[in-house]
Amino acid sequence: MQESPKDLRRLSEEELRTYLESIGEPAYRARQIREWLWEKAARDIDSMTNLSRGLRQKLSQDFVLQPATFSKVQRSEDGTLKNAVRLHDGLVVESVLIPTSTRTTACVSSQVGCALDCQFCATARLKRQRNLSAGEIFDQVALIGEQSRSFFGRPLSNIVFMGMGEPLLNYDEVLEAIRRITAPDGLGMAPRRITVSTVGLPKQIRRLALEPLGFGLAVSLHSAIDAKRSQIMPVNRTNPLSELMEALQEWYRLTGRRITFEYVVWKGFNDRLEDALALRDYCRKVPSKVNLIEYNAIGDPRFEQADPDSIQRYVEVLEADGTVVKIRRSRGRDIDAACGQLANRSLDEP
Ligand code: SF4
Repeated sequence: MQESPKDLRRLSEEELRTYLESIGEPAYRARQIREWLWEKAARDIDSMTNLSRGLRQKLSQDFVLQPATFSKVQRSEDGTLKNAVRLHDGLVVESVLIPTSTRTTACVSSQVGCALDCQFCATARLKRQRNLSAGEIFDQVALIGEQSRSFFGRPLSNIVFMGMGEPLLNYDEVLEAIRRITAPDGLGMAPRRITVSTVGLPKQIRRLALEPLGFGLAVSLHSAIDAKRSQIMPVNRTNPLSELMEALQEWYRLTGRRITFEYVVWKGFNDRLEDALALRDYCRKVPSKVNLIEYNAIGDPRFEQADPDSIQRYVEVLEADGTVVKIRRSRGRDIDAACGQLANRSLDEP
């Protein structure tokens, strides 16, 4: 059986040099090709105009470029843009561009669907279909960067890995994408403007703490009481809060960067004083701040946004203890682009 051509973006610089040498091309071409791939985010080999026509033809015979493309863009009343991103095999993920007066943030996906089955999340209903490649993650950022310039006249300022999928279950590709996004010979974005958001996988967090990349870490917590958290996040049954905390403490010890806890307060589930006190106690164990996120209904009657009073009680309990806490308003809710709502629903619509 004939092997299918290799993705050009999967070649390391070394492999590219070896290949070029084997076809009699000078080594500096590797630099030029990588510049097209990662700095200019080229979408096809033919657009690499400083390469000879012969070399472009040869590259096209031996390799493929499989860029992701926007197949549909929806704009929310609040300016948020949700993009359906079509992958080379026809699968689709979603990425969101969230503009505010001071920032334009890209929320990107790392997997098609997700296997972790968080009960409140629309993506979980899709199940996991496959991991995205580093190139496909990179493409989302490059495309949203162009979109930010054309819609809002400014470059992308922040990236959050809070779209579809659990980024730490696609560890190598996510890290490689971040390397390319932050490299001076890539998109050159400042690592401190990138946040990786996870359900909290202790083993991967420990590994992440050793990476010299300098991005931020957010954990979707939603309850600091094991029995409750396990009820809505099955991952907690095998990765309890105490083990997660040990990994977070190690993250802080090694990186010096405080953790962001993402937290939704639901009516009748975690809206009591004892829940707020448990979160306060958890936050005491590691330098951290809390984002209280407005909940976006996904049609499941078990989950309903808590009353403002209960949310205010969280704010008071945490602030009285010196923890920084912010209430995050929902963005893009009318187009199902808000946190926890990404489920490729746009594909069902005309
Ligand atoms: S919240 Fe994140 S980890 Fe949980 S099911 Fe949804 S996409 Fe997966």
